[in-house]
Amino acid sequence: MQRFESGSTIVRVREYIPVTCPYCGEEGDLDVDETGASRQSYVQDCPVCCQPWQVELTRDRDGEWNATLRTGDE
Ligand SMILES: [Zn+2]
Repeated sequence: MQRFESGSTIVRVREYIPVTCPYCGEEGDLDVDETGASRQSYVQDCPVCCQPWQVELTRDRDGEWNATLRTGDE
């Protein structure tokens, strides 16, 4: 349930996106900085197998984040 009060804006700064590791298949969460650009790409190590994820994040018009994980071997 959300409540909006006049004069204030509720901003979620952090959002977590469920992802599956392309290397080991473990599920995890991606930590998204919502104050960043609507399109971001970076490398983040899998917390389980420590392999580098090639992360691509895009935010659509509704503010929904989509994450794509790739291995570095492509
Ligand atoms: Zn992994």
